[in-house]
Amino acid sequence: MEKLIITVALTGNVPTKKNNANLPVTPEEIALDVKACADAGASLFHVHARDSEEKPSLDQSIFKKIVRNIKKVAPDVIIQLSTGARAGKDWENRATPVRLLPEMASFTTGSNNLPGIVYENSPQFIEFLAGVFMATGVKPEIEIFETGMINNALHLKKKGFFDFPLHFDFVLGAPGSMPGTVKNLLFLSEGIPSDSTWTVAGIGRAEIPLATAAIVMGGHVRIGLEDNLYMPDESLASNVKLVEKIMTIAKEVGREVASPDEARSILGILPGNKNRILETIH
Ligand code: ZN
Repeated sequence: MEKLIITVALTGNVPTKKNNANLPVTPEEIALDVKACADAGASLFHVHARDSEEKPSLDQSIFKKIVRNIKKVAPDVIIQLSTGARAGKDWENRATPVRLLPEMASFTTGSNNLPGIVYENSPQFIEFLAGVFMATGVKPEIEIFETGMINNALHLKKKGFFDFPLHFDFVLGAPGSMPGTVKNLLFLSEGIPSDSTWTVAGIGRAEIPLATAAIVMGGHVRIGLEDNLYMPDESLASNVKLVEKIMTIAKEVGREVASPDEARSILGILPGNKNRILETIH
């Protein structure tokens, strides 16, 4: 089995410090949390920006501050910026995180309901964003909330947007979308091309059980306070505690964990892309 890539979704758009004081929000807090999680065994970091009132933001200057701070304390990790819609619907703004040239960015290939909103990704927007990924060479993590989103991604590949194996993240258990069951995880993971890689983001209580299933199935895992605020024993989680939990489970079942460079090679990220982002953030 391939080594296990542990992704941490540190902050997200929704939770606040009122929900869990361990949530990293400022660029400084996010960077410190990245460092602690990297030391504990995580290699990939899914990053959202928040403004000074903790609200979701697509402000370039905040992303730049976050990246600069992360690079100072954890220069080797893979940074994946979010293109999610809670911070604004403007197409160009949503493409901003990709244009900053991180090694990866998230890319949702369809629309679905999420708590309080329609997570809207029209066919036209999806093609626009795929074009930005293609032009920049940033590796997309394709976020799958519903089955049809896999077909949409494969259709883009057929149209020539992506000429490399795709990497999928199955987001399961979000209210309004596919439930967080092992049956759904099995169904989705069997529905992607065999050269693809996949990870799972279980939402809420589904996080650790689905991560455990992925570890034994040969997939990868995404955990973190964006998706879930609690440990299995119902105590408040922190990103580091969640990484440590995954490390323990992986060790118990004999799955080795990937370093950032090993994760790059599993995901097919070009080594030359590692520090391109620094050229855009001065
Ligand atoms: Zn996110």
